[in-house]
Amino acid sequence: MNKPAASVLRCEICGAQYGEMDARTACECDGLLSVLHAAPSENGSALRARFALRRGSVSPRASDTSGVWRYQELVMPSAQQMVSHPEGNTPLLTSAPVASYVGVRQLSLKHEGHNPTGSFKDRGMTVAITQAVRLGARAVGCASTGNTSASLAAYAALGGLKAIVLVPEGHVALGKLAQTIAHAARTLVVRGDFDACLRLMREAQSALGVYLVNSLNPWRIEGQKTIVTELCEQLGWDAPDWIVLPAGNLGNTAAFGKALVEMRDLQLIDRLPRLAAVQAEGAAPFAASFAHGFVQRQRVEPNTVASAIRIGDPASFDRAVGAIRNTDGVVIAVPDEELLDAKAIVDASGIGCEPASAASVAGARQLVRQGLVRPEHRVVAILTGHLLKDPEVVLGYHRAGEGAAKLANPPVTIDATLRALEHVVFSHS
Ligand SMILES: *Cc1c(COP(=O)(O)O)cnc(C)c1O
Ligand SMILES: [Zn+2]
Repeated sequence: MNKPAASVLRCEICGAQYGEMDARTACECDGLLSVLHAAPSENGSALRARFALRRGSVSPRASDTSGVWRYQELVMPSAQQMVSHPEGNTPLLTSAPVASYVGVRQLSLKHEGHNPTGSFKDRGMTVAITQAVRLGARAVGCASTGNTSASLAAYAALGGLKAIVLVPEGHVALGKLAQTIAHAARTLVVRGDFDACLRLMREAQSALGVYLVNSLNPWRIEGQKTIVTELCEQLGWDAPDWIVLPAGNLGNTAAFGKALVEMRDLQLIDRLPRLAAVQAEGAAPFAASFAHGFVQRQRVEPNTVASAIRIGDPASFDRAVGAIRNTDGVVIAVPDEELLDAKAIVDASGIGCEPASAASVAGARQLVRQGLVRPEHRVVAILTGHLLKDPEVVLGYHRAGEGAAKLANPPVTIDATLRALEHVVFSHS
């Protein structure tokens, strides 16, 4: 293979460019950076065939086995040694009860909870940690509501790097905190919210030389793009009508928009699906801004049961605006009750997901009600994380008693008799 051309980091505000081995994760002007790659030597069917060959390969190389690195030309062409589990290769599932709940005939669930640490964050992290190793970073760090830190901890350990994680006090799901500690990251619980953690991390980056792998990090966006690349490949490169995803810090929304435009330009797909970004009603600054034509960036005091999207001032706000505009997309918000009912449906179907993930299913349902998504549309909803991430929310929802949720399935205590068992399980009272 010829040596691939280098990529560049370009400021999304002022257009300044930096080399790909520059460790900065924001421009001098404070603008966000995005990665631009040299055009691959192939496009269209030749590039699709190359991807298929790697998918079918039996070699143990990350560039073949990983659902991220298999698309290396679109992610980080110059990487040689990858820090990979591998990751990606997540299933595209169908479920009759979930499709009927949403109200469409063809619903696919792209389940990113099947990644090694249980969320899509692994797709971005494999790339960001690979870059940290290439840069010879002293340590890597992030501020996180949970899944980023779980993923960072695992990949930093794989790559042999010191990991620092800042989490906001009180608002972290148990499963995620457990993973972060177990994978040996230095875990600091900060008195403040997520946004305070992010500010502190950025200070540590410039003052202490910690390589920042928050979703600001442009390489994470490159890895997360492969969620849509892989799902389009799974659909035979026939793009769906809609891709619906939960939206918090908006890194994924931005990544999806970038991926889709790049894939169309490389003739991997011939039309763009519409993106629907779904926020929780209590943490919906992006939806509020969309409702007014994005004339103004919004901030809110976030409040939702879905901790992965409890974000008031999204880091990737500006680039996510481009993603929505470029795909004729929409942004909506769903109340926590609808999100939790959607989760209960997904969970009871045997698939399961964490609370934030269910925003995509609840959101798709709302879009059908509004008439924007039609029953004959082909819809892909992204399930971003695994059910076991947040057992507290599950148990809270299914608790018996006053004010129990619609779809609650509380455990029942019985005497150790067949009669009691039969009565509880088979009587239709
Ligand atoms: C990070 C995360 C989100 C939100 O993604 P953003 O890129 O921050 O918008 C949603 N769901 C889960 C499970 C996550 O971990
Ligand atoms: Zn700039």
